[in-house]
This record gives sequence, C-alpha cells and structure tokens, in this order.
Amino acid sequence: MELFNTLSGTIEALTPVGAPALRMYACGPTVYDYGHIGNFRTFLHVDVLRRFLRQQGMAIEHVMNVTDVDDKIIRNAGNAGQPIAEYTAKFERAFFEDMDALGVERPEQIAHATEAIPEMVTLIEKLAAKDIAYQTEDGSWYFRLSRFPEYGKLSKKDLENIEDGARVDVDEYEKDAARDFALWKAVKGAEPSWDTSIGKGRPGWHIECSAMAMKFLGDSFDLHAGGEDLMFPHHENEIAQSESASGKTFARHWMHVRFLLVEGKKMSKSEGNFYTLRDLLLKGYRASAIRFLLISVPYRHQMNFTFDGLTESTNAVDRLRTFDQRMKKGGFPEGLDPEIAAATAKASTDYTASLANDLNTAEARAAIFDLVRAANSAADSGTLRAGNVVEILKALALFDGVFAVLEDRDAEITRAALTWAEAEGRIEEADASLVETLAFGDADIDALVAERTQAKKTRNFARADSIRNELLAKGIMLEDGKDGVRWKRK
Ligand code: AMP
Ligand code: ZN
Repeated sequence: MELFNTLSGTIEALTPVGAPALRMYACGPTVYDYGHIGNFRTFLHVDVLRRFLRQQGMAIEHVMNVTDVDDKIIRNAGNAGQPIAEYTAKFERAFFEDMDALGVERPEQIAHATEAIPEMVTLIEKLAAKDIAYQTEDGSWYFRLSRFPEYGKLSKKDLENIEDGARVDVDEYEKDAARDFALWKAVKGAEPSWDTSIGKGRPGWHIECSAMAMKFLGDSFDLHAGGEDLMFPHHENEIAQSESASGKTFARHWMHVRFLLVEGKKMSKSEGNFYTLRDLLLKGYRASAIRFLLISVPYRHQMNFTFDGLTESTNAVDRLRTFDQRMKKGGFPEGLDPEIAAATAKASTDYTASLANDLNTAEARAAIFDLVRAANSAADSGTLRAGNVVEILKALALFDGVFAVLEDRDAEITRAALTWAEAEGRIEEADASLVETLAFGDADIDALVAERTQAKKTRNFARADSIRNELLAKGIMLEDGKDGVRWKRK
C-alpha cells in the first residue's frame, strides 16, 4: 500500500524494514477529559490503516502512548481534589470504552508516560552527555535547538531564526517560532514529581513519545502517526530528541490526519460546537453511524462534521445492514449472473485499490455502494443468483473488515452511555424519548409480546394491533415468524 509521507512530501510505499512486522507509533490521548469527535477522527483513521494493512497480510506492532501526567491533568485533578492517578484512571477507562464503542482495535502496546520515567531520564542524560540538553537554575532541563540544524524538516515551517537560549516550557506554543523546549520540569510546589538522577521533577510532554517509541520499537521504525496539530512542535521535537540521541533516523514515514471542523468552524467549548462521543450518543445518534461518518472522509482532507452528515451516515449504515441481511436470507435461484459477478469482482478490486492508494476511504465506500445498488436491483428484477450471493457476501465482509459497521451493537452502546449519564448525574442531557425507549427493558417487551400473542389467540385483534403500535412508538419492531414472534430495537 502507498501512503503520503509528511517527511518526504510524497506518496510512498509503506513497508516494514528490518523486521517482519510493521512497527508503528501513534500519539495517544492526554487523559484529562472525555475524548471529542476530533480526537476520534484521528484514532479511527489509524484504525482504518491498521485494519487494512492486516487485511493485506501485514503483521503490525503498533504502540500508542497514554499521556497521564501533564499541565492540564495536574490542573484538572487539582480542581477535582483528586490524586492524578485516580483522576487519569477514570478518563483512561472512558477513553477505551469510547474506542470500543467506535470499533477501534487496541494497539499491540499501550504505554503510560508515568511508567516510562526511567527511560525518559536515560534519554535526557544521553542528550546532556552530548551537551544538547542543559539544565537551568531552577533545575529544569531544556533541549538546545541550535544543536539540531535539521529542526523543521517535518513541518517545513518557515521558522524564525533560532535564537540560542530562548526557551519555552509550556506544551502549547507560538506557531512559527522555534524555542528551546522543556525536557524535564523541576518540581514546583505540591505538583506530582519523581525523584531521579537528573533531579526532582516531571517529564516534558515531548520526551515521553521519544522514550516510549524507542523503548518498544527501537531507534528507527517504520511509521509515526498523529493529528495534524502535532506535526509542530510535538513531532519536530520528538525527531530532534531521538535523532540527536541515537544518530539515526527516528521514524521513516509520518502520517498526519487533518482536523475535523464542526459546521465549518474549529470545535470549541465557547463556540458551543464541541462534541464528545458521549454527547452524540446521548442525543440518540448511533455509534456505528459516527464511526462510518468519521472515516468516510479521507484522512488527508479536512472534515466538516454536520448533523445532516450524521443522519446521512445513519441511513447509509442501515442500507448496508439491510442489504447484508437480504443477501444472507438467500432464497435466490441456483446459478450465476455474469453481469453481477463482474460487478462484484470490480467492487472488491476497486475497494482494495482505493485503500491501497493513500487510504482513500471515500472511494472504497463508493465501490461497495455501487455493488449494493447493482445487486439490489438484480434481486428486485429477479436476475440475482445464489452463486452471486456467495461472492457478494465475501466482498461485503472484505469491506466490513475495515469499515466495521455491519454488526449491530448500537442499542447496547447507547444503553451504556445512558447508564454512565445516570451515574454522573447528567441524564438530563440525554434525549428524552431515548431515555424512555431504552428504560423500557427486555422483560417489559417480552411481557407485551406475550400479551399480544394471547390477544391474537382470543381474536382480540384491536388489542394486538395497539400493542404492536405501542412497541413501534418505542422503537421496537416485531417480526412474526414460523417459530413465534421476534422483536428488535430500531
Ligand atoms: P490529545 O488528547 O489532545 O493529545 O489529542 C489526541 C489526538 O487527537 C491527537 O492525535 C490530536 O492530534 C488529535 N486531534 C485533536 N483535535 C483534533 C481534531 N479537531 N481533528 C482531528 N484530530 C484531532
Ligand atoms: Zn506524541
């Protein structure tokens, strides 16, 4: 497969070097709050990449960090009156629940910053031995940028002349200025700190990714990924630290996912257009539709999230599921329609070629919907044959290996979100009819279904119909079959 490489500025083959598995590192979450849909857009595209590579037969060693100590965590945990470990554990749990809800596969290795302090200290000592790291009077350590002339090679920013000794110690800084950055922050007041050979303090943010990537993947590895905002300074700083210490190329290939905007604007709490996954679930949107929407726009395009788009995505997932069920139900005459056979083969080829071409998810999706359209009309007109269905289901499974929306876990996920909202005292944020529908438990449904069966036996059809309508209003559909009545939630 070929993937755009931010470092070279070109689309290049992505292949493992020096090991059977592709070694990749993706910057993970800072667990100081619930993840928002922009964060998940990035994690979902990394998921698309790993699922597709595996589908192509490539083994993967994927490491993701969890930033569990930083300025924001210290501030928020302090406000909540909790130790940082307790505070971050809650949001890390929530993060992985959300990842599961969105069908994101777990990386092979999850690395916590607070568990790699010795590796970070060793790395800083290595830089200090080369006089690239220096200590200031307060005991903090900085990276001397003037010692890394290649600085800026990833983001290709026109950085102002690097002024020797100009420093910055906050994680977010000016967009176009290069400054010596903090490797280690000396302890201040009652902040959490570690007592180490380079002094008492805590790591800067950038050193964590360098130390953990090299710990698990070696000095040089195949691919590094993250959102576009991380390109500068975070990834530039990772390169500077790692390559200065090892003298080798850090990551060969860099993948950056472009930002998600909401209704054309940068997402922000003050704009009122800031959405976590949980916000959307509580509004009644389905996890599958959110996944499908967030991955349908190719990762190198900016994505504009809209509620119309989410509704469209909900319908698209429904169409796929209905089609899948129609094919699985079968009942088509024996044989093979050559036209549909050709359309099926084309859909599979186009799907694979699209993803192999810099992960063009929009084209991959279009290829499968072309097939859905052709097969549905062949089924309608009676030309679809059982032999076609076998191949169609294979094409659909191939597609779903990456898009992963056919299995319906939506109601279960929404129910879990409501349980969480209840426990957090936030249930009033949930859509009222959703609460009513989901509060209606399986036992309540079974009882009504049994009453309806009884009503039908006694020829009380009015009551039977009113029960069906009552259930339908709650989003529960009944299917009368040979072996009784089955129900499902819409
Ligand atoms: P954070 O937890 O803020 O460190 O972010 C986790 C990941 O989400 C990083 O890879 C960020 O680059 C990415 N990210 C943050 N905001 C957005 C956004 N609006 N669109 C896409 N990715 C984002
Ligand atoms: Zn990172």
